[in-house]
Amino acid sequence: MNVACDEYAGEAAREHMECPEAPANDILQPPYEGSKAMLKIGDLWITSDYDSNIHFASTAPALRSYCRQRHNWSKKTMNLINWNTIDNIRKKQNWSNFVRSMKLLHGWLPVMHNLGKYKHIKQCPGCECPDETFLHLFNCSHHLMIEALNEALETVEDTCHKMTIADNFTTAFISCITCGIKKTTAPIPEHPRELATAVKHQNRIGTHKMLQGFLAQSWGDALRATGYKRHQIGLTRLHRMIWEHLFQRIWDTRNFVLKKTPNMYNSAENLTLEQKLNWYRDHRHTALSLNDRHLANIDSDEIKKMGRRTRRKWVQHLDRLSDIHKKENQLRDEGQSAITMHFKVIEHRKCSRIAGTRKSRQPQKTKKRLTQTTLDSTLAITKRKRDTRPHDNDRPVPRGTIGVQTRIKFTAGTAQPQRKDRPRPPEGIEPD
Ligand SMILES: [Zn+2]
Repeated sequence: MNVACDEYAGEAAREHMECPEAPANDILQPPYEGSKAMLKIGDLWITSDYDSNIHFASTAPALRSYCRQRHNWSKKTMNLINWNTIDNIRKKQNWSNFVRSMKLLHGWLPVMHNLGKYKHIKQCPGCECPDETFLHLFNCSHHLMIEALNEALETVEDTCHKMTIADNFTTAFISCITCGIKKTTAPIPEHPRELATAVKHQNRIGTHKMLQGFLAQSWGDALRATGYKRHQIGLTRLHRMIWEHLFQRIWDTRNFVLKKTPNMYNSAENLTLEQKLNWYRDHRHTALSLNDRHLANIDSDEIKKMGRRTRRKWVQHLDRLSDIHKKENQLRDEGQSAITMHFKVIEHRKCSRIAGTRKSRQPQKTKKRLTQTTLDSTLAITKRKRDTRPHDNDRPVPRGTIGVQTRIKFTAGTAQPQRKDRPRPPEGIEPD
């Protein structure tokens, strides 16, 4: 069968060489006669590698549409990008690098510009720039960032020399990177023509996109035109160098500045949290329910002594309590009551507090189940005590409100004193 096919192919090739303009009527067109079933996606007949073709057809249109919208590219510009190299490099990456390269490609890295969308602080940790974008990483004025960038660019140049790439290619390539840092178009070299085309295509894609890993396909042709024989392998090495040496160096330095040194972001966050805590203290009568107001009654000196993590946790819990208070008010305006109003916490908490003052000092074995008689007598004693106390607006009034107060543990029939006069941090706060 194979021998017959080879003879048939040889005859067809010989006829084509003798008369290349003759119509090739004998070429079989799918669907082939006698075949039971064949796969066709769009106008393309699929004859092998069904899994990858089906996966590509199911995911590619949505991804291409997202990329076009995300990076503001046209269909023609999309086709200029060297997707095969991106795919080949990412296939060999470990999981953490795979995820990072995905974030890098689509601008999902946790730079402050992205984190600030829900943290509301976009301050660059290294300098006074109020908005740390991805491109700012390469333009930051922090001395460590400047050193890192210079070293990374030197590494790129050294690697090009070690790969014995032609100088005109190296110059044009690094020129595109430096123009990308400034977000400008790169100058187009006069010759060779392939190198000029590569720079033109890169300008069209965006020189700053080169820092994210979007290189033009025509860099491969330019590499071959400048005398590099294994141009596809060389282009893959250049692409990997941008991710692993240029970007990685900058990103590691930025994370060192953020996490290991006193920086502008921590100062900005500290200030914002302090302002929030002060705001909650001043507006606790409107922002929080009566039961929770004492939590926001914190002195300015005490706030200043707090660490950043403690402040963050306080604000987090106060935000949550404020949201609950808003929802309860909204329900009340609509003539409804919150479900927490029907909880029987009042008696329990009274029992807890009252019994706690009287029984907490007793050993565990002397604790006994409260009866209705003891409850009535203790309530009467406490009522007399309460009448003699000065009025305090901030004193929490037991109420079925969801809040930190409701975390007081109470086991039916036993008394466990939990409340103290001084507000205690909510659960989850750890001292810095
Ligand atoms: Zn900066």
